[in-house]
Amino acid sequence: MSAAERLAAVTERIAAAARRSGRLPQEVRLIAVSKTKTSQDIQSLVDLGVNDFGENQIQEALDKCAQFRETALNWHFIGHLQSNKCKFIPGNFSWVHSIDNEKLVRRIAQANRQAGASVNLLLQVNVSADPAKHGVPSRELFSLVEHILELASDKTQLRGLMTIGYRGASDDERRRSFAALRRLLEQCQQRFGESMTELSMGMSGDFEPAIEEGATMVRVGTALFGPRD
Ligand SMILES: *Cc1c(COP(=O)(O)O)cnc(C)c1O
Repeated sequence: MSAAERLAAVTERIAAAARRSGRLPQEVRLIAVSKTKTSQDIQSLVDLGVNDFGENQIQEALDKCAQFRETALNWHFIGHLQSNKCKFIPGNFSWVHSIDNEKLVRRIAQANRQAGASVNLLLQVNVSADPAKHGVPSRELFSLVEHILELASDKTQLRGLMTIGYRGASDDERRRSFAALRRLLEQCQQRFGESMTELSMGMSGDFEPAIEEGATMVRVGTALFGPRD
C-alpha cells in the first residue's frame, strides 16, 4: 500500500469513529508517529497534507525537527522525557504528551521564558496502574494538576491528559481505561476550570475505541507508515 492509501484508510476510520460517537471528524487530530522512520517517509505524508508528527526519542526528534525547520510542522514529543532534556523542547516541539512530574514543567517553563517560545503540555496518566509504564497514577492526578497549574503560564499551558493502552489488555479493558481517562479530564474541568480540553489516546491498534470514548488526538504510527523494523 502507498502512503496515500494508508493515510486515506486511517482518515476514513477516524471519521467513521468520530461520527459513531456523535462528533465531527475534524474534532480528532491525527498525529503521525514517525519514530524510526526516515525523512522521506515523513515528507510523503507532508506532501499529503499531514502537519502533526510524533517522536519519542529526543535526539532523533531534534534531527528531524531541524530537517523540516522550513516546513512549519507541529512536532509532538510522546516519549519519556528526562529533566535534563527539557531545554530542547522550546522552539522544537509544540506539544509534550508525556509530562508526569512537576520538575519537568518547571524546567520547560524556564526554558520557554528564556527562548520566548511556547508549548502545550499533556499529563500522562497510568490509568491501568501498569507498573511497567510511566505516567502519574490516577489517585495522584489532582494534586499534580494543582501544582502544575501554579507553574503554568501563557507560554507553558496544561492542555489535557494522555494515556497509553496497556499492551496485554483486552479490548474491553482498553476501552474502560480510555473511558476512565475521559472521566478524569471531566473531573479536572470541574475542579480547575475548562482550560484542559485534550485527550491524547489511541494508537494503530486501538484508535477507534479511543475516539468513541472521547479522544481528541490519536497517535498513529504503524497504520500510517507500515511496520517498524
Ligand atoms: C510508538 C508510539 C505510538 C504509535 O504506535 P503504533 O502502534 O505504531 O501506532 C503511539 N504512542 C506512543 C507513546 C508511542 O510510543
